[in-house]
Amino acid sequence: MPRTDVTVTRSELESIAANARRLQIDVDELRERYRAERDRRFNPRGSGQFHPIAATNEYSRFDRDPWAPEIEPRPPMTETLDVLIIGGGFGGLGAATRLVKAGIDNLRVVEVAADFGGTWYWNRYPGVRCDIESYIYLPFLEETGFVPADKYSTGGEILEYCRLLGRTFGIYDKAVFQTRVVGIEWLNAEQRYRVATDRGDTFLARFVITQSGIFSRPQLPGIPGIDDFEGDSFHTSRWDYDVTGGDATGSLDRLVGRRVGIIGTGATGVQVIPQLARAADRVIVFQRTPTYIAPRGNGPTDRESFAALAPGWQQQWIDTFDRITTLLDGLNCPINDGWTAFGRHQAAALQEIGSRLDPDARAAALEASDLAWNQELRNWVDRTVHDPHKAAVLKAYYRTHCKRPGFSDEYLEAFNSPNLTVLDVSATPIDRITPKGVVVGDTEYELDVLIHATGFDLGHTWTERAGYDVVGRNGTRLSERWRTGSVAFHGLLARDFPNMFFMGVTQTSGTPNFAGLLVQQAVHIAHLLEHMRRHGSTTIEVEQAAQDEWQRMVLERAAPRAAALAECTPGYFNNEGEPGKTSVLGPNRFAPAVELYQLLAKWREDGRFEGVRIAGPEPRAASSGEPLPDGTD
Ligand code: NDP
Repeated sequence: MPRTDVTVTRSELESIAANARRLQIDVDELRERYRAERDRRFNPRGSGQFHPIAATNEYSRFDRDPWAPEIEPRPPMTETLDVLIIGGGFGGLGAATRLVKAGIDNLRVVEVAADFGGTWYWNRYPGVRCDIESYIYLPFLEETGFVPADKYSTGGEILEYCRLLGRTFGIYDKAVFQTRVVGIEWLNAEQRYRVATDRGDTFLARFVITQSGIFSRPQLPGIPGIDDFEGDSFHTSRWDYDVTGGDATGSLDRLVGRRVGIIGTGATGVQVIPQLARAADRVIVFQRTPTYIAPRGNGPTDRESFAALAPGWQQQWIDTFDRITTLLDGLNCPINDGWTAFGRHQAAALQEIGSRLDPDARAAALEASDLAWNQELRNWVDRTVHDPHKAAVLKAYYRTHCKRPGFSDEYLEAFNSPNLTVLDVSATPIDRITPKGVVVGDTEYELDVLIHATGFDLGHTWTERAGYDVVGRNGTRLSERWRTGSVAFHGLLARDFPNMFFMGVTQTSGTPNFAGLLVQQAVHIAHLLEHMRRHGSTTIEVEQAAQDEWQRMVLERAAPRAAALAECTPGYFNNEGEPGKTSVLGPNRFAPAVELYQLLAKWREDGRFEGVRIAGPEPRAASSGEPLPDGTD
């Protein structure tokens, strides 16, 4: 395995773990503090506080595609397909590659962007990099033979890799870019879906696979006056290099002499802020909640060791990563990063109590070790940031998995620059945005550039975020069916929506390595469609009882996480402090991921397809993909 860690930072991670093990923690005091910090940030408007950015709403100007501002003209298409795939990120690309490999190639990929890449198409902000090791994040490395340059790939490398997948598996020929699905309807007589797009296309597809993305709809903060600002302003996922100069590697030369404000200190803000500090005259970070920062330890791939890895290594690594991060063991995990360091730290706490079965003892041990880990990360802030006031503001107070942790060797260090100010806007929130800048309390902070690093819409329903509704059997609308949360057998199939596969985080699983989940879903779907093709079957639908049982099992498995999330500081993991309501990443999931993968694999091997009804062939069409009788081909 390529040991790529930078020695200094790797030992920092180890010393954080070692120190945390020695720390004496006052659990009650910290609990109290965490509660107070959570309450201070709770906004009764919940997810409703944000303004989602959409091509069709008042914030559409923030949605402009900076990478392909012009729409390539083309005539509308009318096609009959075996499979229509919505989304050209890792989900859609993964499904397409598995299907093409299985010989199912009468398919189309419809994508809003002008190329493949999904999240990595849009997010090209300065400093963009993956925060999961590229060796387990980039799918199908063993098949493509691609060797990531570094332990953590740049966004540019990931985007290029998506293009490579598109070229290697011939998916470009099947792609329709700059096209947005606007509606999907099941045609019972034809046993197909009619899919309409904003380019006037009509696709008649036997099967639809959708991965409309979880980070696909950016959002602005719910602060009045966003439109009043007279300087330059944009969202990080639509970075405006005309304003900043430079590129994704930095060198933002047009910020020289300018005053820049940035709202948001999540995973994106953590990567962007050091780049801004290097270039701009003055940078003000408006921070509501700090992110925990652990060392990153990036470094180049050791190509020799990489080449020597035994076949099957990638899935094995993905699985051990998921095992250690969900405390199922995996202590032999070859990955040495902040995720696994925390996992090992928690596992050590469990080993100390000597019993993994007593739930109360287990919960107490995990809490104490979590709080100690948190404390040691706060100590790291003190050791790194020289100004005690700044250090105090940058310290986080919530349990580790309340929010996505950050990994950076430059973020905290950047706050030692005198041009970088951090303002705590948790107790006194940003009041408004004016033509000149941002008002907090009695002070107006004048700015030339205002950047929104305020994340993505995860608080609305599936259909709102996707931007289209699906009309299934008997006129059933997905918007209605999933009004309070998605329900999907194996996270993929929903009753009354035959032949439609929902990829992503429906009722699947949570893992920091989201790409690994998408691969498993692609494998599963391809297996089903291959089986159906062999048997000439035309429809697949989950049985009601199986879906109900899945729902019950998911909620049961998610109960401990749901309880923990209720205690968490608000964020998209807990639906901004309201985990009981619809929550994309919250309690509505089958955990741990690796157990979901095993369950799916066993179900496939078993071959009985229990819980789903596979039917056909129908009398009217000899095989899927044939022209329909009405000649719409
Ligand atoms: P997040 O949702 O994580 O962060 C949004 C930020 O905006 C938070 O700090 C939030 O504060 C802040 N915010 C929102 N409204 C206001 C307001 N009114 N006033 C002040 N602050 C406000 O979005 P990101 O884009 O940072 O990250 C989204 C996800 O994308 C990540 O969690 C990660 O999964 C993924 N990602 C992955 C990367 C990778 O390397 N693989 C890199 C970047 C992103 P508060 O917390 O208080 O709500």
